[in-house]
Amino acid sequence: MLIDSHAHLDMEDFDADRDVVIKRALQGGVTRIVTIGIDLASSRKAIEIAKKNEFIYATVGYHPHNASKADPRDLEKLKTFASEPKVVAWGEIGLDFFRRHSPPDMQVQALERQLDIAFELDLPVIIHDRDAHRDLLSLLKKKNRLYRGVIHCFSGNYDLAMALIEMGFCISFPGTVTYKNAIDTQTTASRIPLERLLVETDCPYLTPAPFRGKRNEPLYIKYTAEKIAQLRQMPLEELAEATSANTMPLQPPEQDMTRPIAKDSPLVLASASPRRKQLLRQTRIPFRTMTSRVREGTLACDPLLNARLLAEAKAQAVIRTSGGNWILGADTLVVLDREVLGKPADENEAFSMLRKLSGKEHSVITGFCLVAPDSKKAHSEAVVTRVTLKALTKTEILGYVATGEPLGKAGSYAIQGIGAFLVKGITGSYTNVVCLPLCALVNALVATGALKTFPIDS
Ligand SMILES: [Zn+2]
Ligand SMILES: [Zn+2]
Repeated sequence: MLIDSHAHLDMEDFDADRDVVIKRALQGGVTRIVTIGIDLASSRKAIEIAKKNEFIYATVGYHPHNASKADPRDLEKLKTFASEPKVVAWGEIGLDFFRRHSPPDMQVQALERQLDIAFELDLPVIIHDRDAHRDLLSLLKKKNRLYRGVIHCFSGNYDLAMALIEMGFCISFPGTVTYKNAIDTQTTASRIPLERLLVETDCPYLTPAPFRGKRNEPLYIKYTAEKIAQLRQMPLEELAEATSANTMPLQPPEQDMTRPIAKDSPLVLASASPRRKQLLRQTRIPFRTMTSRVREGTLACDPLLNARLLAEAKAQAVIRTSGGNWILGADTLVVLDREVLGKPADENEAFSMLRKLSGKEHSVITGFCLVAPDSKKAHSEAVVTRVTLKALTKTEILGYVATGEPLGKAGSYAIQGIGAFLVKGITGSYTNVVCLPLCALVNALVATGALKTFPIDS
């Protein structure tokens, strides 16, 4: 289950044996390939390849090398290509001040124009950045959006990666991470949050060891994934699963997410929590909920930041079908030492989680993210409460698990339910951490006139 998030299958390097290369990848366990357009002709070809192969998706865009050729007429044409069902992103676009095949000012202009088009079409972006870190960062910051997309072939340091992750991007690593002298890249690949990590080949270029120097192809994604799994000291299967889940922005929307939003509900709550729904109803703002499959992985950075990133990821996941609405994402993490206790899959797992938490102080952290109708990130924060559970007997835990309440709850308990009896002490407000900031945000919006409440029922 490996996904190559960036390949150039349209290139002439594959003309002689393209179908063989594609078949080899599929047989070798590659479950999805995103093939990237770099100009009009290449984007057209990428779509053709995607149409012929179920597991291949395409993107359209003008690479910074070709920025000087991206005239408005061609961009209009690309926009029509983008409506093809197999097109999942706009790109690659970006800045390349290393080769400078197009003048820098034209690259900046083409990038800005294409970022705007991607937002207009509600598509994620694939960004190329070579020797242009500072210019790219300031250009992206200037637009102040919650971005969806990928910084591909990442070549900066950890701090740059985190700055881009804060803006909403995933960071994708190619085969260069396997090279002996790639210390910076390896450090970054081992430290960034797993939820924002992707792997790619960028084939036919950047072939990983042990095939460095030969033509690259999607099958070789496994060497890059293996190296990163080794750097992060985790099983390859786990890394493969996580990076596959992370390509969500590069997948067509799920069936249940394609329904159009009712005009009379300007707010979308990207969270499945019934408690949040219940509290939000008290604000008298019409809203609807949409859920997404954002998974809580292992803690790979500061827990507060992690909670915030998860909330942002939930908001991002529904932007595609809810652009034009206010979106409120929220996610709660239960953290014991450095371990994230997610939602238990079954009663046995709930039992062992509660056993771990018994008698211990731990953190309940909720991240919030509010996105404006123009996709700008309006607010993002995380709050924490320390909770200590009583020392519980086996019988008490079994009795609580039998109530059914622990299933589907982070950390296997709900304080505002039967679970209240588990608690010995709380530092801070539990209600506050789980729900209240959400309503505070919405009330603040009402105060500015951005959202209108409905009248109280008579
Ligand atoms: Zn590139
Ligand atoms: Zn590329």
